[in-house]
Amino acid sequence: MKIIAGNWKMNGSKATLHEMQQRLSEINTENRVILCVPFTMIDGDSAPAAIGAQDVSVHDHGAFTGEISVSMLKEAGAKYVIVGHSECRMYHGDTNEIVNQKAKMALDAGITPIICVGETMEERDAGKTLEIIESGVRESVPSDGGDVIVAYEPRWAIGAGITPTDDDIADAHKLIAGILEKMGRGGTPILYGASVKGANAAQIMSIPYVDGVLVGGASLKPDDFIPIIMATK
Ligand code: PEP
Repeated sequence: MKIIAGNWKMNGSKATLHEMQQRLSEINTENRVILCVPFTMIDGDSAPAAIGAQDVSVHDHGAFTGEISVSMLKEAGAKYVIVGHSECRMYHGDTNEIVNQKAKMALDAGITPIICVGETMEERDAGKTLEIIESGVRESVPSDGGDVIVAYEPRWAIGAGITPTDDDIADAHKLIAGILEKMGRGGTPILYGASVKGANAAQIMSIPYVDGVLVGGASLKPDDFIPIIMATK
């Protein structure tokens, strides 16, 4: 069983979500499928894919215009929430510390955080990939609380149509698994994300410690997303 999570970013509509769920109901898979959609499309009754959000406030309630609290996500029926996505780190200034707070908020509400870590192109070029991944996991993943999912997303490869080598993915995932083990979080699912598509999904998911994938662009259309889910049954 693998976890296949889609991140719709600021795309889609209630109609395209309905169509996606309809198409997903026609396939036979043991994989866990999650769709992280814009806030207005979160509907806990939507199935078969579980529904998640793409971010959450660190605040519980109050004068934070434009933010969404974890209790609001819970009320809408979200089961998962992505925290620390590259775009939130880049455009909203989310740091590891903020990501950790968001993940804790989610855990306290019984929502599973999908915690993203990964290096930028500059960090990669400076030979800091493993260092950034290590601090990302240590600082972003809460040391206690319920189950989490970690996603390794090399930030330079998101939406770029390129991926790290299999060896680089393997090294990153092995490192993450070791850190999580030491944190008492052994067995935490570790997803790979960035430029996953039908053509590379099976290969990527055959790499040790890759428990699934987080998919952006190729999760929007059933004809692109379903081949990724069916790449490993
Ligand atoms: C993402 O944004 O989480 C992502 C993985 O995007 P893409 O698949 O488009 O690279």
